[in-house]
Amino acid sequence: MSNIVTVLGIFVADISFTGKKIPSSGETILGTNYNIGPGGKGCNQAIAISKLGGKVNFISKIGKDEYGRLALDTLKKNDVATNEIIQDQNLQTGVAGILIDKTTGKNAINVITGAPSTLTINEIKEKNDIIKNSKIFLTQLEIPKDVTLYCLKFAKENNVTTVLNPAPASDLSKEIFKYIDYFTPNEVEAEFYSGVKINNEIDAKKASLKLIDLGLKKIVITLGEKGVFYTDGKKEIYLKASPVKAIDTTGAGDAFNGGLVYGLLKNKSIEDILKLANKVAGLSTTKLGAGNAMPSINDLEDF
Ligand code: ADP
Repeated sequence: MSNIVTVLGIFVADISFTGKKIPSSGETILGTNYNIGPGGKGCNQAIAISKLGGKVNFISKIGKDEYGRLALDTLKKNDVATNEIIQDQNLQTGVAGILIDKTTGKNAINVITGAPSTLTINEIKEKNDIIKNSKIFLTQLEIPKDVTLYCLKFAKENNVTTVLNPAPASDLSKEIFKYIDYFTPNEVEAEFYSGVKINNEIDAKKASLKLIDLGLKKIVITLGEKGVFYTDGKKEIYLKASPVKAIDTTGAGDAFNGGLVYGLLKNKSIEDILKLANKVAGLSTTKLGAGNAMPSINDLEDF
């Protein structure tokens, strides 16, 4: 039985600006500091899994430029396998502009995905063996949707456990739902897919049941500083967020997905998986950045 995770997704260089607030439209503020580091949901999730001790392949597309080098250096440094990354010298590596509120750690983000927006099914078919030989396949919605659908279907048909972090929220054909084992929206995304406004765990349950009616199986809604809600239609689990002082919540959802997949890899019970993911995510908010804020297994044990 394979013990490898394959993550399909994007890398972007996160360029973040911290200030006393997130400026509103038309407003200029004098911020306090900036940071450039690795980001992109796929890359962050791959790093999170690897730092916990899981074996990860990352499938992606980048340019042959400065940020492309940052991608490869960062992934290698974090023991994520980079052989499946397509590098194209005519395309740009992605970037994300992030505005962070220093007081709350909340953010607003604009992502330019660059190279991975040109990823095709033909290119991804070359990766069939990698996906097929994985225990878990994890992806998000930052690469072209036809490629995402193709991979989830291919993974499921080959008995690979599939996890879709349906972020950022975007229209999905219902067809995709039957190929997803774990669906992991945050509350904004869960509202988008279910049509249920979420303020608390009761709303999260209502939203989850709607999603199960649509053909999804296991729903994990992350609720930011309010924690996480899980249901498969029978079992229900709600956990409060870890008691930490959050300084930057960028990548918290990615840390959570990384923790969840690592727990699945280790065949833990759903209760233990959620506890672990909740801790990993909480810890990630205590450091600046996304990819660089993912906690290691030692950080987790010390917590
Ligand atoms: P996203 O980053 O995708 O918007 P959330 O904001 O829902 O995702 O956060 C994901 C998870 O990160 C939460 O379920 C929780 O475990 C953890 N988390 C987020 N914000 C905090 C916080 N302020 N304190 C502790 N944990 C947090």
